[in-house]
Amino acid sequence: MMGYFEDADKLFIPMYSRYKIILDHGDGMYLYDTEGKKYLDFAAGISVFALGYNNKAYNDALKTQIDKLLHTSNLFFNIPAIEALKKLLDASGMDKGFFTNSGTEAVEGAVKLARKYYYKKKGKADSKIIAMNHSFHGRSMGALSVTGTKKYREAFEPLIGGVAFAEFNNLESVMELVDDNTCAIIMEPVQGEGGIYPATKEFIQGIRKLCTEKDIVLIFDEIQCGMGRTGSMFAYEQYGVKPDIMTSAKALGCGIPVGAFAAVERIANAFEPGDHGTTYGGNPFAAAAVSKVFDLYESEKLLDNVNEVAPYLISKLDGLVKKYDFISERRGMGLLQGLEFRMPVKDLLPKVHSKGLILISAGERIIRFVPPLIVRKEHVDEMYSILDQCLSEI
Ligand SMILES: *Cc1c(COP(=O)(O)O)cnc(C)c1O
Repeated sequence: MMGYFEDADKLFIPMYSRYKIILDHGDGMYLYDTEGKKYLDFAAGISVFALGYNNKAYNDALKTQIDKLLHTSNLFFNIPAIEALKKLLDASGMDKGFFTNSGTEAVEGAVKLARKYYYKKKGKADSKIIAMNHSFHGRSMGALSVTGTKKYREAFEPLIGGVAFAEFNNLESVMELVDDNTCAIIMEPVQGEGGIYPATKEFIQGIRKLCTEKDIVLIFDEIQCGMGRTGSMFAYEQYGVKPDIMTSAKALGCGIPVGAFAAVERIANAFEPGDHGTTYGGNPFAAAAVSKVFDLYESEKLLDNVNEVAPYLISKLDGLVKKYDFISERRGMGLLQGLEFRMPVKDLLPKVHSKGLILISAGERIIRFVPPLIVRKEHVDEMYSILDQCLSEI
């Protein structure tokens, strides 16, 4: 396989330092590389493959749609998109939504919608947005503008203007930034890429109250923490609050690239035809995937499974924190968990992989645990025994 690694180094614009594994196929909780080596997967393609690999009902739904129609453009209607959106809105409690091709595009749509709402209300375009430190919202220019890691943004400035960053879980720091021009506050209920930080209840509820009082649009980015990963369909449900706009992607398509943004009616109706759009977004193929994903979450009782297995995973990870001095903390919600190390984890991960376990990081010193939502306790045991062995060799 060496030839392929060398080819890839020459062919790809260098954006990723990839692990030297060529994945070939998957089944349930397991992935296989091109040499037939089997890996237990606790990464799910970065929190994507909630249903596990090679789910027959899902694959069949896609195959059926391929033979019917793949694409229509948004100039015409298609039934899979209408059905899929109905399911997303039912699950999210939002009133109207729109499909995109990715997470970052969902954030673009959400930010544009918030700005349009402000523009219609005030009759001028001088709005400001408050985002959070350590947040991650995507790589396109708008989403990057609200991403709270300076090293992701710096080389690409000037980005969209009027963005200020508050400290996550510090309501004071948000309040200090609010003024008459504040149009939106954007945050992840559980920060993912930034290092697996759940919001506190006081913080989210305080922000909700602030936004309601001042008619500021509250945007929750549920791209990573949504779709059942934390034990409810969307993480905000567990905080007893609803956003004005929410975004989804990652597990929304379970492998088919698709995202969405959805809003309460009052905000959604700020957009008029021509304000936003996409050629591919919500095409019948992607929508058939979304629609089937929602059906399978229900028939396979994935939320029940998350709530059953997550406490077990948490207890095992807490055990590792106790056992190893070089692990400082466990953080997370449901099946979105992180272990913070006192040293970088980049040398540890390839060792874990070589023993047949796929884990990824979330920042330099954090190992992230985001298994497919079909994970069972015995998979947690298998993961634990491989990881424990690798840790004992440090
Ligand atoms: C992954 C992610 C995004 C970006 O999604 P893409 O599909 O990679 O564009 C945005 N927000 C959050 C919270 C994410 O985890």
